[in-house]
Amino acid sequence: MTQATDYINSVAATLKQRDPNQPEFQEAVGNFLKTITPVFEKHPEYIKANVLARLVEPERAIQFQVAWQDDAGNMQVNRGFRVQFNSAIGPYKGGLRFHPSVNLSIVKFLGFEQIFKNSLTGLPIGGGKGGSDFNPKGKSDAEIMRFCQSFMIELQKHIGLDVDVPAGDIGVGGREIGYLYGMYKRLNGSERGILTGKGLSFGGSLARTEATGYGLIYYTNAMLKANGKSLDGKRVLVSGAGNVATYAIQKAEENGAIAISASDSNGYVIDENGINLDVLKDIKEVRRARIKEYVDAVPSATYHEGSVWDADVQYDVALPCATQNEINGDQAAKLIANGAFAIAEGANMPSTPEAIAAYQAADILYGPAKAANAGGVAVSALEMSQNSRRVSDSFATVDGELKDIMETLFANSVAAANEYGEDGNYLAGANIAGFTKVADAMVAQGW
Ligand code: NDP
Repeated sequence: MTQATDYINSVAATLKQRDPNQPEFQEAVGNFLKTITPVFEKHPEYIKANVLARLVEPERAIQFQVAWQDDAGNMQVNRGFRVQFNSAIGPYKGGLRFHPSVNLSIVKFLGFEQIFKNSLTGLPIGGGKGGSDFNPKGKSDAEIMRFCQSFMIELQKHIGLDVDVPAGDIGVGGREIGYLYGMYKRLNGSERGILTGKGLSFGGSLARTEATGYGLIYYTNAMLKANGKSLDGKRVLVSGAGNVATYAIQKAEENGAIAISASDSNGYVIDENGINLDVLKDIKEVRRARIKEYVDAVPSATYHEGSVWDADVQYDVALPCATQNEINGDQAAKLIANGAFAIAEGANMPSTPEAIAAYQAADILYGPAKAANAGGVAVSALEMSQNSRRVSDSFATVDGELKDIMETLFANSVAAANEYGEDGNYLAGANIAGFTKVADAMVAQGW
């Protein structure tokens, strides 16, 4: 064994011992460590500075109580988190997730991924993530507002323009960011750059809503083009029906693809004519209803209970845009058997380790989340920049910058993979390109 593998194994062993009950976090770190050995072989200075052990331990992990009153007058209690993972290259940046499954393991996996994703964008932002096990589904607007206000009363003690700038994620969209910002402003005065994903009338950026989905397609286009292919005329299977899925479907269809599905946690719809965006947006953005209702407006479409990754349907490109571990090894085998020659991840860690191994064994094109879905945080950083400059850039300007960032990020991943003998491995390329920048900054800054 080389010094590099010894070192990586010892960090992995300590982590397993320290956080045995954090499966999602262990999985994210495990996926990363599998690809990083060549970097430590080439850079013994990273071992000397013990960069890896420092990188897998959050700089700060805050857990707090969020008490709020429901419409019936009952006092409810949820758990809030903010994990400030790594600030080597800039202030912590990463979303807030409100979903009943949220716990420290999930927030840590998301924060860990965010370090490399943010580094890959080329913008000066460190990695963080937060959220709560609060379930927004079925809550009234007033309940959502009271929850967000209580959450911010605590969170505001820990964030700052040059310290930590949260954004949205699952269950946190424009409405929630508005309520969170409103409470922040009452407590601290107007500091627009403190949150991103804001409404356009109070400092939000044009194209932020679309950014993750559009960015996913810009990345997919770059990956397909590098392999002599394109989205034009291709059938695309999409999971999710939220922010990322909606704008991925929109941009894929603009590029000539037929996006044949959308899903939620109950089931999925297949529309052979391509998902009708007006219908999708009305259901999910306006009425906050279930995807099942799609077939009421489009009777030729079909609704099925269960996971879209179990669907018996032929397609060319897979875009998982719902949640972590939504594709297991069997479903990855099915995806390949169904004809997919490429997958690009809109959701964070949507593929289990077994699924990733199946893509690699079948040699299909695989665009990993930390690269493919970096468009959201990239435009968030552009929103911070607009807030500092007190300007609002046009949609075309922001969208153009987003496209450039995604194409550059893909090219940098390819170059890093080639440099370390991993040609064509976009996962290794993304991990290496994201990591080396952070590691260099950590070494340069001492400890
Ligand atoms: P939304 O809350 O807007 O939508 C989430 C979608 O995924 C919903 O359709 C939801 O269905 C579905 N979903 C959530 N949990 C599950 C589950 N356990 N099983 C099946 N379906 C589920 O979130 P986003 O679109 O913002 O986020 C989607 C993914 O993209 C997440 O992994 C997120 O971390 C990632 N991401 C988001 C970014 C952003 O800018 N928003 C940036 C980068 C990554 P239901 O309504 O039934 O829960």
